[in-house]
Amino acid sequence: MLKKNDEFNLKITGYTSEGGGVGKLDGQAVFVENTAIGDEILCHVIKAKSTYAIGKAMKIIKPSKSRIEPECEAFKSCGGCSFAHIKYEDELKAKEQKVKDAFARIGGLNPPFAQIVGSPETRRYRNKAQYPVRRENGILSIGFYAKKSHRVIDGGDCLLQPVEFTEIVEIFRKWINNNNITVYSEGTSLGLVRHIYLRKAFATGEIMVCVVINGKALPCYEALLDELKKIEGFKTLVLNINRKNTNVVLGDECVALYGDGYITDILCDVRVKISPLSFYQVNRDGAQLLYQKAAEYADINSDDDILDLYCGTGTIGLSMASKAKSVTGVEIIPEAIEDANANAEINDFKNTRFICGDASTAAELLKNEGITPKTVILDPPRKGCAEELLKTVSEINPEKIVYVSCDVATLARDCERLGKLGYNVVEVTPVDMFPRTSHVESVALLIR
Ligand code: SAH
Repeated sequence: MLKKNDEFNLKITGYTSEGGGVGKLDGQAVFVENTAIGDEILCHVIKAKSTYAIGKAMKIIKPSKSRIEPECEAFKSCGGCSFAHIKYEDELKAKEQKVKDAFARIGGLNPPFAQIVGSPETRRYRNKAQYPVRRENGILSIGFYAKKSHRVIDGGDCLLQPVEFTEIVEIFRKWINNNNITVYSEGTSLGLVRHIYLRKAFATGEIMVCVVINGKALPCYEALLDELKKIEGFKTLVLNINRKNTNVVLGDECVALYGDGYITDILCDVRVKISPLSFYQVNRDGAQLLYQKAAEYADINSDDDILDLYCGTGTIGLSMASKAKSVTGVEIIPEAIEDANANAEINDFKNTRFICGDASTAAELLKNEGITPKTVILDPPRKGCAEELLKTVSEINPEKIVYVSCDVATLARDCERLGKLGYNVVEVTPVDMFPRTSHVESVALLIR
C-alpha cells in the first residue's frame, strides 16, 4: 500500500470527472492534478488512503503528446480550467469518454453515442462572470476563488471571459479604492460590495453590470457610471441586494440604477430578454448548437404540442415554437417566467404558455388537465429531475423525451429510471459548452 512521501514513476492513463489525471500503481489509483493522459511523471504522494492516493507531479519525465502550454498565467492557482494544458481535440475525446463512462457506471447503460459537438470558440466564449470582491490585509482582490478555497485571487484577464469584463473589473478596482467603498467580509458579514456580476449578449453586444451588495444603496455611483459608460455595449447598471450570511451569490431583489435592468440577446433567431436572476446559457454559440441538436431529436411538426420543463426564459421551447402547434414551459424563478412571457411577446409567438412553479407540481397539474404533448423537454439543474417528476412525465405519456443536461451523472441516473418507466435512450450527443473546464453538456433522446 502507498504511503505519504512515497516517490515513484507513474504513467497517467485517464481523467477523473473533474478533469484531473489518474494513473495506477499496483492496481491502486493515484490522482495527480494538471497532468495529461500519456504523461510519465515522477510522482510524490501527498496523501494516502486505503483505496487511493493523491500525488503531485515533481517532474514530467516524458510529456504527453496532448500537452500544450496553458495560455493563462493563473492556470495553476485558479480552479476554473482543468484542460488548459491539453489540446482541444484531446479535451473533446476526454469529455466524450466521461459521458460514456457515466452512462455505463451510473446508469448501467450503453446507448449509441453521437460524436461530441465542439464549441465554436474555445476562448472568451463565456457571457457571464461573477467576481467575488474581498480585502485581505488591506489589499483589494477582485477575481476568482483559488482552488478549493474561499480565498480570492485577482483573475487578471481571464481568457474564458470577454475582454470588456476585465476592463469593467479594473473600473471597479479604481472606484472602490478612490471612494473608500467598503467590501464584504465572509468572517464578519460586514462591508458593502460582495460580488461584481457581469453579463454580455454576444449577438447584440449589450452588457449588464450588476453589483451585489450587503446594503440598500450604492454610494458615489455616478462616478462609477461615468466610467462604465465608456465601455462599448454597456447598457444597464443593476444593484442586487444580498444581506444574508450565505455563500449564495445573488439575493432576491434587483434595482436598476441605470438603463432597463436587462439586456437582449438573439439565440436561434429568437430575441431573448436576460435579467440578472434568470438563467441563460453561458456559451451562446455553443447553446445554438445544443438547441439545434435538441430540435433535431424533437423532430417537430405543426400538429405537435411541446412541454418544456425547467424552461428558464423559455429559450429551448421558443426556438421550436415556430414549427410547433404549442409550447408550454415550466420554471420556478418568477423573473425567468416574466422574461419568458416577454420573449414570447417580442417574438410575436401566440402559441406559448409559461407557468411559474416547481416542475413536479406543475407537471402533475398539467397531467390532470389532460395535456398530450408529443415531446417533453427536460433541462434540470445539476441535481437532475425529482423522481416523482419522471413518473409524472411517463404518465403524461409523450412519444419522445429530449433530456438536456449539464451533469452527466444525474442524466445517467435519470435515464436509468426512465428506462424502468418505459423510455429507452436512443442516442446521446455530448456538446462541449464549457471548453477548458471539466464540464460538459449532453442531450439525450428517449423514446417510448
Ligand atoms: N432550459 C433553460 C434553462 C435550463 S437551467 C435554458 O436552456 O436556458 C435549469 C432551470 O431550471 C433554471 O432556470 C432553474 O431556475 C430551473 N429550476 C430549478 N429547479 C426547478 C424546479 N424545481 N422546478 C422548475 N424549474 C426549476
